[in-house]
Amino acid sequence: MAWDFSTDAEFQHQLDWMSAFVKEEIWPLETIVHELGLDGLVEAMRPLGEQVKERGLWAAHLDPELGGQGYGQVKLGLMHEILGSSPIAPLAFGNAAPDSGNSEILALAGTVEQKERYLHPLLAGDLKSAFSMTEPDTAGSDPTLLQTSAVRDGAEWVIGGRKWFSSNGSIADFLIVMAVTDPEARPHQRASMFIVDADTPGVHILRDVPTMEHPWESYGVYGNHAEIAYQDVRIPADALLGARGAGFLIAQQRLYPGRIHHCMRWLGVARRAFDMLCERSLYRYAHGSPLAEKQTVQNWIADSAAHMQAARLMTLQAAWKMDTEGVAAARQDIALIKFFGAQVLHDVVDRALQAHGSLGYSTDLPLEAMYRFARAARIYDGPDEVHRASVARQILRGYEAPSDGVPSEHVPTRREAARERFAGLLEAVTAND
Ligand SMILES: Cc1cc2nc3c(=O)[nH]c(=O)nc-3n(C[C@H](O)[C@H](O)[C@H](O)COP(=O)(O)OP(=O)(O)OC[C@H]3O[C@@H](n4cnc5c(N)ncnc54)[C@H](O)[C@@H]3O)c2cc1C
Repeated sequence: MAWDFSTDAEFQHQLDWMSAFVKEEIWPLETIVHELGLDGLVEAMRPLGEQVKERGLWAAHLDPELGGQGYGQVKLGLMHEILGSSPIAPLAFGNAAPDSGNSEILALAGTVEQKERYLHPLLAGDLKSAFSMTEPDTAGSDPTLLQTSAVRDGAEWVIGGRKWFSSNGSIADFLIVMAVTDPEARPHQRASMFIVDADTPGVHILRDVPTMEHPWESYGVYGNHAEIAYQDVRIPADALLGARGAGFLIAQQRLYPGRIHHCMRWLGVARRAFDMLCERSLYRYAHGSPLAEKQTVQNWIADSAAHMQAARLMTLQAAWKMDTEGVAAARQDIALIKFFGAQVLHDVVDRALQAHGSLGYSTDLPLEAMYRFARAARIYDGPDEVHRASVARQILRGYEAPSDGVPSEHVPTRREAARERFAGLLEAVTAND
């Protein structure tokens, strides 16, 4: 099977433009994000977004009729690798999470009216959205346990339950809420998705959960995760998104490509940390030589390069498989990269931070923020353990236990069989002795 991840010259030209644009126009803005605040940041991004639109790279993940490019996953992956180098770059390219994923859901499952009312303003940057699935009281890694319910009452649905970690929930204009509509159905057909306007009575934003990445509770800043109570929230029947009971199916369709994008963005972060590691190793001098001459630091550089290359090829291969054979064929590859890529990101950032000593630990460099970001990657979109278990299950389907309990490679048993098979040869050898 031939894997070819090279891209055409025209697209490569676009990627080169993106790299320079992100570095020159967006990296400087990162350093004053807190001074700008959310409104200032959105304002600063607007003219940059216009340039991106002119290049035809805005919301490239969507189909052409929605203003995107209909790029396959390999091309999108290569774009995300560049965007990953800055946490705010996706804002200028119309594909910041969770709006990008939510726009994919709306494109995939929305009615004409829903697209008109929510998708188009979302793409124009006039609305903000959140995806509200995880609950504090049930295991997010097993969403068949969801408890938030949606009960039909005449022409309305009534939603009740509590969610948390709804990213950007406190600044969203609407939320895509996952709720159980059919508790008696098969586990993966129990839940449905709904579009809930944030100002609907009964939607209570309780708080932004302080996290390792954002330790101080603060409303209205990108990257926060809301805890939300849905208390007898009445929404019209046409707020159902997609078919009743299709919540998991739609979520999966969104999550698979989303994981490829995550992994490529993580490589962008890792690459930036890696560059800092290499630069530091050349200028920092201790114990008679630059760090670059210490074997430990050389190991860090070589191991990081090897792991990043492995993660990159694995991710592009998963993307290529999705493009050529479809989502189902790429399932195992996507689960592999989710836990492997998250670990690579973590380890590369950790080494770069270590090489910078106290400077790396300080906020004078972006490394400590990358480190906090990296830790979450091992949890969201399915924790490492769940993806490892899924990979192992899929691999083990190709094996079976020996019916007699003897391992198939058991040497004494194989030797016995070989002796029988080559009895003549053995006899001849013995006779010659
Ligand atoms: C930064 C960030 C952003 C997020 N954004 C959103 C969002 O926008 N919308 C949303 O709905 N949710 C969001 N989440 C929530 C996220 O999807 C969940 O945290 C995740 O699915 C795990 O669920 P949980 O936290 O309930 O952990 P649990 O399901 O309670 O799992 C806890 C731990 O148990 C272990 N575990 C679980 N299953 C297994 C297993 N089968 N084998 C071995 N060990 C296992 C793992 O170590 C796991 O970390 C976000 C989370 C983070 C950190």
